[in-house]
Amino acid sequence: SNICTSQVLLANMAGMYAVYHGPHGLRTIAGRIHRLAAILAEGVRRAGMTLISECFFDTLRVNLGSHALPTYRAALEAGYNLRQVSPGVIGIAVNEKTTPTDITRLIKLITGINADPYRLDEQVRQSGEDDLPAALLRRDAILTHPVFNSHHTEHAMLRYLKMLQERDLALDRSMISLGSCTMKLNAASEMMPVTWREFTDIHPFVPLDQAEGYLQMIGELENWLQAITGFDAICMQPNSGAQGEYAGLVTIARYHASRGESRRKVCLIPRSAHGTNPATAQMCGMRVVVVDCDESGNIDVDDLAAKAAEYADELACLMLTYPSTHGVFEESVKAVCERVHAHGGEVYMDGANLNAQVGLTSPALIGADVSHMNLHKTFCIPHGGGGPGMGPIGVKAHLAPFLPNHRVQPVSGPHAGQGAVSAAPWGSPAILPIAWMYIAMMGGSGLKRASEVAILNANYLASRLRDDYPVLYAGRHGRVAHECILDVRPLKAATGVSEIDIAKRLMDYGFHAPTVSFPVAGTMMVEPTESESKAELDRFIDAMRAIRAEIRLIEQGHWPADDNPLRRAPHTQADLVETDWQRPYSRQQAVFPLPCVARNKFWPSVNRVDDVYGDRHLFCACTPLDEADGQIEV
Ligand SMILES: *Cc1c(COP(=O)(O)O)cnc(C)c1O
Repeated sequence: SNICTSQVLLANMAGMYAVYHGPHGLRTIAGRIHRLAAILAEGVRRAGMTLISECFFDTLRVNLGSHALPTYRAALEAGYNLRQVSPGVIGIAVNEKTTPTDITRLIKLITGINADPYRLDEQVRQSGEDDLPAALLRRDAILTHPVFNSHHTEHAMLRYLKMLQERDLALDRSMISLGSCTMKLNAASEMMPVTWREFTDIHPFVPLDQAEGYLQMIGELENWLQAITGFDAICMQPNSGAQGEYAGLVTIARYHASRGESRRKVCLIPRSAHGTNPATAQMCGMRVVVVDCDESGNIDVDDLAAKAAEYADELACLMLTYPSTHGVFEESVKAVCERVHAHGGEVYMDGANLNAQVGLTSPALIGADVSHMNLHKTFCIPHGGGGPGMGPIGVKAHLAPFLPNHRVQPVSGPHAGQGAVSAAPWGSPAILPIAWMYIAMMGGSGLKRASEVAILNANYLASRLRDDYPVLYAGRHGRVAHECILDVRPLKAATGVSEIDIAKRLMDYGFHAPTVSFPVAGTMMVEPTESESKAELDRFIDAMRAIRAEIRLIEQGHWPADDNPLRRAPHTQADLVETDWQRPYSRQQAVFPLPCVARNKFWPSVNRVDDVYGDRHLFCACTPLDEADGQIEV
């Protein structure tokens, strides 16, 4: 899920940029950028024009008075986007792709003078005009960690990245059955346009007539998402599901306020909800009231009715996930929505499970007023390694005037909207080609078929695994939706083997673990998606069953509870070559538990780490890793 990580991939890219260039490379790049800016500044100054600030790094603001607009237009004509900072003032930013020729052209455009950048450079150096203010200069060493000082050639960088890649168990090796996360195929044909320079080399705030292709793509995608969800309007601004929730609840709050009902601040949330739901409600200043679930995991309709009535006067909304995070199509869902509406509340649908709805039903049909769509789940944008995500929201017409808008790009939202929820008017549009391609290639019938197969795959897994691992919740006919919860608690009570042990052991079998202990502690939630073939599902089932057989050996006393392949999983190559193998199971059992595992072995690079420790303790890996006293394994 992207909740904590929607920008981690981007952060990693920035980090890798620092790894590749190192402190010296970065300083050189920065120095060159500043030097070009200083040359430009000198050219402007020598023409008698004034800079708004003499203190700059890469961006100049020049006072051009009545000259500003003609200069802006002439630059546009010549292929340069300058910034109209305020009437009469132009902003120019230099970056590492700027060349001396660009500087010559810009000086000519601004001053009308044909300048020689190399002579200007000399003059700047002699006058000392390019000196950055001493008080602002950082003098301590930066990026001293060896990782920033080792990989400065393309070969070295490639090998470093490859080494890291091989430690990850990703979709290029096996299915990732993380429930609720919808780790489906990110097809090459969907991904390809993301690298086209027409999509990549464009600033989020360019004049709109330079972004016609983007606008057409965004518009078409909005239309398709309207058709899929049944909503009247779409807002593309949120960058993740959680941010969509935020945008949606703020929209609801603004709607209530517009009707003089700002007292409506109670948000009903079923006990089964994703953690982002209460977190979002809290952030929006709403009061969370939890609604109970019955023993089959469904919303307790009586409790809901009672609470909706009790808080009728203050009821802002219900946050509802469908199919529920328990992996079931709740039959009461429409009645639940009606009940909330009857008391003046709105229905927010957490749309993370849209992959089970597309083409079969829709949030609007069910009764939702607003819902987010995780384009990085249902609509194929890769995620989990850190996004970036897109969590647009759809709304019914009465909420449309209160959607987010953006000061810099007014056409991106309604005139009287609620303000921006993201820095950029359309969120992260650079990844929208992926969702566009998916929908365009699938077409209506293909999308519906995908939902059907996703549900079929989950039910196939559930029926073939339920003898070994009871399926916790199912609908009236014993069926699940597009994911299912496997209950490990009885096994734990009988043998001490926990869901974590199974998750770690799956690595030895070459599988990424399903979602663990969400939404119910002590369980695993499996979502195969429509992208996996029967062969891959069978491989996973074989692994899960083989693990169940191992647990049986613990049950029967063959292996001690604290020394068995599950408790000691995952196993590394270092374990395999241990000279003094004292374990009650063989090396083969440890690393090649099934014949098919040996054919494409994934080698975990470290033994078990204490998950919770890492979550709760902040520790610094700044010391060179080989001096870290063996605590951090590289
Ligand atoms: C993934 C998910 C979210 C949050 O979406 P992000 O894009 O990760 O912020 C919310 N609710 C449910 C049920 C989810 O599965």
